[in-house]
Amino acid sequence: MAAAPSAESEAPPGAAPDAAVDAAAPDALRAALAEHFGFDRFNVGQRDVIDDVMAGRPTVAVMPTGAGKSLCYQLPALLLDGVTVVVSPLIALMKDQVDSLQARGIAADFVNSSQSAGEQRAVLERLADGALKLVYVAPERFRHNAFVRALARARIALFAVDEAHCISRWGHDFRPDYTRLGEVVERLQPPRVLACTATATEEVRADILDALRLPDARIHVHGFLRENLFLEARLCSGDKDREARLRAFLTEGAGKAGAAIVYASTRKRVERYAQAVREMLGDAAVVAYHGGMGDEARRQAQDRFMGGEARVAVATNAFGMGVDRADVRAVVHVDLPRTIEGYYQEVGRAGRDGERAHCLLLFNNIDTRVHEFLIAQSHADPMRVQALWQALRRAGPDGARPWELARALGDDGRKGLDTALRTLMRSGAAWSDPVTEAVRAVAEAPDDAFALGIDFESADMHRRAELDKLERMRRFVFDPRCRHLQVLAYFGEQIEPDGCPGCDRCDPSVEGAMPGLRFEAPTDEEYLLIRKALAGVARAEGRFGLRKVAGMLAGSKAKGVGDTSLVSLSTFGLLKPLGTQGTANLLQLLVNQGLCQISGGRYPLLEISTNGWEVMQGRAKPGFRPPPELMKAPPKSSRSGRGRRARPTVVEVDSADPVVQALRSFRTEEASRRGVPPYVVFNDRTLAAIAAAKPRTEADFVAVHGLGPGRWSSFGQALLDALAEVI
Ligand code: ADP
Ligand code: MG
Repeated sequence: MAAAPSAESEAPPGAAPDAAVDAAAPDALRAALAEHFGFDRFNVGQRDVIDDVMAGRPTVAVMPTGAGKSLCYQLPALLLDGVTVVVSPLIALMKDQVDSLQARGIAADFVNSSQSAGEQRAVLERLADGALKLVYVAPERFRHNAFVRALARARIALFAVDEAHCISRWGHDFRPDYTRLGEVVERLQPPRVLACTATATEEVRADILDALRLPDARIHVHGFLRENLFLEARLCSGDKDREARLRAFLTEGAGKAGAAIVYASTRKRVERYAQAVREMLGDAAVVAYHGGMGDEARRQAQDRFMGGEARVAVATNAFGMGVDRADVRAVVHVDLPRTIEGYYQEVGRAGRDGERAHCLLLFNNIDTRVHEFLIAQSHADPMRVQALWQALRRAGPDGARPWELARALGDDGRKGLDTALRTLMRSGAAWSDPVTEAVRAVAEAPDDAFALGIDFESADMHRRAELDKLERMRRFVFDPRCRHLQVLAYFGEQIEPDGCPGCDRCDPSVEGAMPGLRFEAPTDEEYLLIRKALAGVARAEGRFGLRKVAGMLAGSKAKGVGDTSLVSLSTFGLLKPLGTQGTANLLQLLVNQGLCQISGGRYPLLEISTNGWEVMQGRAKPGFRPPPELMKAPPKSSRSGRGRRARPTVVEVDSADPVVQALRSFRTEEASRRGVPPYVVFNDRTLAAIAAAKPRTEADFVAVHGLGPGRWSSFGQALLDALAEVI
């Protein structure tokens, strides 16, 4: 982001903070920022975190990757007396940071296992002499008491824990060594503690506070809103459909120009989709990238994409770590990502230059099952392990080969075998003879697998956590609410953007959009409608799918409804005015809001949930109002046409219109005055909305979609003044 001298100090006192722009900080912190790092403004959130750290309040900073969390401990480190200890799990990153600090003339060093004992001792001596401002430490160092004692003798100003989610078993990256940090904090009693992470769901945050023994820590969540990304998710009927949509997107849709990354879930699917995209765009435009390729092939692929030779990269999520192409205009997922964190990190690679980018997620119900299968496979089922252990013990001292064990285990013998075997071998209770390939139980091991000391409980928690995250991801794609608001809620960021910055749920030009869902008590009429729909679902008794139940409620005589027992239900035709499609939309909304559920299995069936029952019987009122548009049958024309697809969200404005011209030049000036990209001031859709509304008063202004009180206080009057000349 271009930095320019800041003028925010001119904003009126008490102005609502603008999410994308830091308030001015003409003070010591700001001077130090410029002096030591050469930056002239803080990124979103940095200032708040640093203020709390400096004031000695235990602090947790949750900010996305690239938001600049390191600075939140590096800057205080330079201003405080004493040393800042930074716990970081990645040796390579540690070295990078220390190198760049040293290059700026800052006394920083690290202690980790890449060093000899002598080197480590030398660092500890400098620490004891008070010669270091920052020392980076790998978490396994804390296994050694001598190391903790050495730290206890130093004068610690700040204890910073980076990648703090590693402390939680609910996190995706649990590190047992991190669990020791609580004790360390208690022992060292540092005057300041900061924990940083990019990903922390509520459970993980609670674990961080708990494990570090900081019940009163301030939690800052900042910077998750990406206003220049358009988020869209589409349910597809299968791979053919996904391919057709991908083609439309890349050849005539929002992804037709500029760099694009297409993410697929496995190596095989990367190959498949890379081939498909080559057929769409020609060989030269495409690179494939996945972990199964050799180092050289991967490097070449990366170079061709980074250098701009190839426009599209088709890749697994291994792609992107070192990829920093700023002008990525589109990210497409052709499979459902496993977690919202993963999804958001991947779409976050689009639009780094601040210009608009479009993120399209193509999914199918089967995707969750693939993930469920993989999650099950990577976690040993305790009963499987027990059965395998018994089979191994029966095999005697010569052991048995895996396929023999599978046979011994019966019909389902292969199921989960590899995972169970790996678990036993990792526990040290079994080993595999490299020559005969036979697996053997070690002598003197207990008879019962549960006495082997395997941590089944952690494994099970991890498995449940993964399933839970997958469920959140699944809900995200079906949830009719604004995608951006959902992401912010997931990460726990409490800001209210001035209108949706762009997503398929809020943009009425997108097929399937459900704009206007309101989270307030329904009117009596709406309540009744919901209860009628639920009564129909209850009557169908979980024997039919969503569309058939919708057909029944709408009184359809179509095949699959008219010729079944559904016609004789008392609820047949109860929602006739909505039509089958309108009723289906309503039912989908009830599913999304948890009043109905869809059972898994080959033929997904609709049934009422416990909450739905309560509502149906009038004992509880739902907390939402169905949007009226939702229940209208779509106009005939859009229902029939083949090859329906989302229209790219091009905003039509008349460039010759003096109002549009005035708005554009106002936006450019305001953006350069604030040193931010123009879309931060307002995006093109908001521009079109302002041009249409021609606001003259504060009330007009805040009523424009995309504007609001926050924007009013930062530039409202100036905008009205500029407009007054042309309207
Ligand atoms: P995180 O740990 O949150 O992923 P980093 O601390 O690695 O992010 O910072 C990402 C990049 O942002 C670094 O190159 C850093 O120098 C840069 N950066 C941090 N703060 C600022 C700032 N206030 N202005 C400009 N660049 C910054
Ligand atoms: Mg970091």
